[in-house]
Amino acid sequence: MENKKEMRNWLDDMKLDHPLVIAGPCSAETEEQVLKIAHELKDTDVSYFRAGIWKPRTRPGMFEGVGALGLNWLKKVKEETGMKTCTEVANAAHVKLAIENDVDLLWIGARSTVSPFIMQELADALAGTDKIVLVKNPVNPDLALWLGGIERLYTAGIKNLGAIHRGFSTYEKTKYRNIPEWQIAIEFQNRFPDLPLINDPSHITGKRDMVFDVSQTALDLNFDGLMIETHTDPDNAWSDAAQQVTPASLIQMMVDLKIRKESDPEAEYNQELTNLRAQIDVVDNQIIEALGKRMKIADGIGGLKKQKNVAVLQSKRWNEILGKMVLEGESKGLSEEFILKMFKAIHQESINHQEKIIKG
Ligand code: PEP
Ligand code: MN
Repeated sequence: MENKKEMRNWLDDMKLDHPLVIAGPCSAETEEQVLKIAHELKDTDVSYFRAGIWKPRTRPGMFEGVGALGLNWLKKVKEETGMKTCTEVANAAHVKLAIENDVDLLWIGARSTVSPFIMQELADALAGTDKIVLVKNPVNPDLALWLGGIERLYTAGIKNLGAIHRGFSTYEKTKYRNIPEWQIAIEFQNRFPDLPLINDPSHITGKRDMVFDVSQTALDLNFDGLMIETHTDPDNAWSDAAQQVTPASLIQMMVDLKIRKESDPEAEYNQELTNLRAQIDVVDNQIIEALGKRMKIADGIGGLKKQKNVAVLQSKRWNEILGKMVLEGESKGLSEEFILKMFKAIHQESINHQEKIIKG
């Protein structure tokens, strides 16, 4: 599917002078909780009030959402605050109920985007709707599944579309709950530059004190909006307690975030520069990550050489690596001089690591 400009009409029509903000609790818990949060978010930059009614939980036996009952609470939110509402749908029955109950925006969760069967069921159930439908990235870092989800919806005649980047699950322990893998989101933007792309820093970080930082990176990378889980009593939330922020801190964040203004040419230039710098930061982090991994492997080799009492420096192997890398580098437009200098430094660090192991 080609990039289609019409997919972003719903967002352009809102004529916002700030990024789109979707906020509200991870889960609707009680009518009182939902209305309390909604009233605190009224008259702020929040355009859509979110609350999960049907909750996908990784393990059974946890709070799985209040179900269809919560749809009445979302109706009340709209009546009392004027905010539009949104919730997650994961099967045809959810879609039917959400549409019948006037939910304005539906999102498809990360655990649904992974399954083409579920995506097709949702596309069929939503066929021809003029509701806004946002597709979260799949839990695994697979760009094609994410694009495929959008394509299935578009083909079913759903034109008010968008995507949510909520990070990717990994077995490795990291400071994130779901690693952002920003390069996948950048790649996604390159494929569909006009499709609104919203960042979900809550599910990326899993921790409320990291939400601001990830939100700023997203805005620097030209995201169109943010979805931030917000709760008046985050510590006692029935799901995702550690990552939810209070309405007061959300409002403060909106003040503190540096937001681009599209109309001013000077600001546009600055935004472009910030965007490119943010992309460089992403790649630099990947370089450090990869070098760290390389040195860990070198430590392993050091251990082996120690056991067998073999010399650290193996010139033949090293010359082979250099020859290969000079060719690889050339194909990427990198000079031989640069490759040799860089690998000399990497090699030296590797030797230092191995020696430390052997002597240690
Ligand atoms: C959510 O938004 O509450 C949610 C369950 O998100 P995800 O599908 O990203 O895990
Ligand atoms: Mn959540």
